[in-house]
Amino acid sequence: MRIGFGTDIHRLDVGDGLPIGGVTVPCLLSFVAHSDGDVLLHAIIDALLGALGAGDIGMLYPDTDSANRGRPSTDFLHETLARMWEAGYRLGNLDCVVHAQVPKLTPHKATIRGTLAGHFQVDPSLINIKAKTGEGVGPVGRGEAIAAEAVVLLLPAGGA
Ligand code: MG
Repeated sequence: MRIGFGTDIHRLDVGDGLPIGGVTVPCLLSFVAHSDGDVLLHAIIDALLGALGAGDIGMLYPDTDSANRGRPSTDFLHETLARMWEAGYRLGNLDCVVHAQVPKLTPHKATIRGTLAGHFQVDPSLINIKAKTGEGVGPVGRGEAIAAEAVVLLLPAGGA
């Protein structure tokens, strides 16, 4: 089995919604980012790449490459999942934390979990999403940024 860890943070600006885990959370904010800025997907992708010993998201999708500008992060996730399946692995489980003072993510956790399970083609019980505020301190607590962390366990595709 293989284990991987990923983390990401993106700054916030005024806007028309935040992509978090492949779900657009309606609010008057957007991410300041080269891609769509989906911090949770970026953390998950880095966790997967880590488990596969395949580098990191910045290496595979550099922000200096204009081809990546504005690309949906679900594209990056699908390519990473294809890499995982080709390497002979399947998801054991995925655990994530999203740190956001604003917006409140609790009402969206179930949707994010179900959407991720669809991308991974697994039962939602293998995926867990936790949301925490920044307790009013630091860039997250001041509502300047949203951060995410993810840890993933991969199992041999053919194993029990
Ligand atoms: Mg990122």
